[in-house]
Amino acid sequence: MFKYPCLSIDLTVIESNTRNLIQLCKERGVDPVGITKLTCGAPEVAQAMIAGGISIIGDSRIENLKKQKNIPIKKMLLRLPAISEAREVVRYADISLNSEQNTLQALSDIAVEENKIHEIIIMHDLGDLREGCFNKEDTFQLARKVLSLPGLKLTGIGSNLACYGGVEPTNKNQNDLIHIAEDIEKDLNIKFSVISGASSSGLFLLAAGELPARINQLRLGASLIMGIGLNDDPIPETSQQAMKLQVEVIEIKEKPSVPINSTALDAFGNKPVFVDRGDRKRAICAIGKQDIDISEITPDDEDIIVIGGSSDHLILDISDSKENHNVGGIISFSLSYGGVLQCMTSEFVHKNYICK
Ligand SMILES: *Cc1c(COP(=O)(O)O)cnc(C)c1O
Repeated sequence: MFKYPCLSIDLTVIESNTRNLIQLCKERGVDPVGITKLTCGAPEVAQAMIAGGISIIGDSRIENLKKQKNIPIKKMLLRLPAISEAREVVRYADISLNSEQNTLQALSDIAVEENKIHEIIIMHDLGDLREGCFNKEDTFQLARKVLSLPGLKLTGIGSNLACYGGVEPTNKNQNDLIHIAEDIEKDLNIKFSVISGASSSGLFLLAAGELPARINQLRLGASLIMGIGLNDDPIPETSQQAMKLQVEVIEIKEKPSVPINSTALDAFGNKPVFVDRGDRKRAICAIGKQDIDISEITPDDEDIIVIGGSSDHLILDISDSKENHNVGGIISFSLSYGGVLQCMTSEFVHKNYICK
């Protein structure tokens, strides 16, 4: 017996998405990193990506990489390390993305203590305005700093796009990154082994043949897991069906669509608004706003209307559904990226890993 509500995670889909996208990447000289942060670093998901051909796993949180400590593969921390977690970073990640000199110093001190070599990718901001040095000279200084510190290895340079500022990867900005990389290489007489251009948002550029040749790494999360890229558009050769939310029906009753004498605010302090569709068959499901923002879910049955919810209840209009719904039955939903993230994070949503 499964427990509900449950997020069903189809590992077979994640593996085949990974296999197809790796093929595309390798044809263009890109070795992608498989990003597990959407699934809170689930080792099952990391293993599915590895089975699909991924050779480096990345995550934004060190706690998530720690869950994967028994998986023998190279690991990358995406979010800039906090100085307070430097020891865990050196222990559980082989590579991290960095933009601060003091953090590099802290990582170096620990790496020396732990007798390890920690790899560094320095981050340059191409205009999305999240992490990275905004000025070329700062990126230069960062590279110099890494070279001067024991226990650290300067592996590459990277940039992040389409996360905060909605700046999409283009041939132009990817070439800008390469030019900065090559200036640094010339000046310091080094060669970066990795130029890490973008996330899943860079796949359309790659598929169009417009990703410059020296970009040899993309960091892929949403595309491998959900088959989506820039603007959440579906990516060819991938499935968008790996993640499903399944919830149990706990009441079905015929009721009016407008409350009787609605004068007060709802449980979240908002003035509720109602569409009068007359008397309707309504189903209550055992999930609520504590678990999921209900604007992030879409019923697989297109004839079901999500009409609202409270902390612990989801209310559906099932009058037009051609299926026969019963109390104790299960209703299935697709999820947005944010919806999956919430379900993964909620302890009340059970996770069901499927391997077909
Ligand atoms: C989350 C993240 C990624 C992966 O993004 P997707 O859109 O899931 O492919 C890549 N790089 C960094 C720095 C990230 O934080």
